[in-house]
Amino acid sequence: MDQDIKEVLISEEAIREKVRELGEILSAEYAGKNPLVICVLKGAAFFMTDLVRQMNIPLEMDFMAVSSYGASTQSSGVVRILKDLDTAVEGRHVLVVEDIIDSGLTLSYLIDLLKRRNAASVKVVTLLDKPHRRTVDLKPDYCGFVVPDAFVVGYGLDYAEKYRNLPYIGVLKPEVYR
Ligand code: 5GP
Ligand code: MG
Ligand code: MG
Repeated sequence: MDQDIKEVLISEEAIREKVRELGEILSAEYAGKNPLVICVLKGAAFFMTDLVRQMNIPLEMDFMAVSSYGASTQSSGVVRILKDLDTAVEGRHVLVVEDIIDSGLTLSYLIDLLKRRNAASVKVVTLLDKPHRRTVDLKPDYCGFVVPDAFVVGYGLDYAEKYRNLPYIGVLKPEVYR
C-alpha cells in the first residue's frame, strides 16, 4: 500500500497527539451531558473509536452510514441514508464525528436531519477539513487538521474501499485513480 502514496501528510504520532487534545477539550465540553457520539461510517470509524477513548466521561455511541462519493473522488451532492441510528436523538446532546469535510453537502444534510429530530444540541468534530472546497456554509465546531485540496487516504479514509487501514493520512499518487 505504501507504494501508492505520494506523500505522508499527517503521521500516526501527529494523529494520536491531536486526538488526545480533542478528547480533552470534548471531555470538558460534554461533562455531565451524556452525549450521543455519532460516527459517520465508514471513514470516521477509526477516529471515533480513538476519540471516545480519550473522553473520560460517560457517553453513548451510535453509527450512521450515508452515501457520498461511491468509488469516485467527486461529491455527487446526493445524500442517501444507508444505515440510520438505533438511538432516538430527541433531547440528546449530539456530537457528530466525521473523517473529512469537503463540499460540506453530506454533513449539512445530516445536521438538518438531527435538528429536525429535535436533538438538544448538534455539534461536529471532524478530523480533517478542506475549507476551500466548501459549497455550503458550514464550519465544524472542532477540527483536527486543515488539509490542502488533494485526495487523501488512510486512518479510515478510502479510495474505492481501499487504504482505510493505513495508520497515517497520505496523498494518493494520481496515477492510482486516473
Ligand atoms: P462532502 O459531502 O463534504 O463533499 O464529502 C464528505 C465525504 O466525502 C467524506 O466524509 C469522505 O467520505 C469523502 N471525501 C471527501 N474528501 C475526501 C478525500 O480527500 N479523501 C477521501 N478518501 N474521501 C473524501
Ligand atoms: Mg465521512
Ligand atoms: Mg469514501
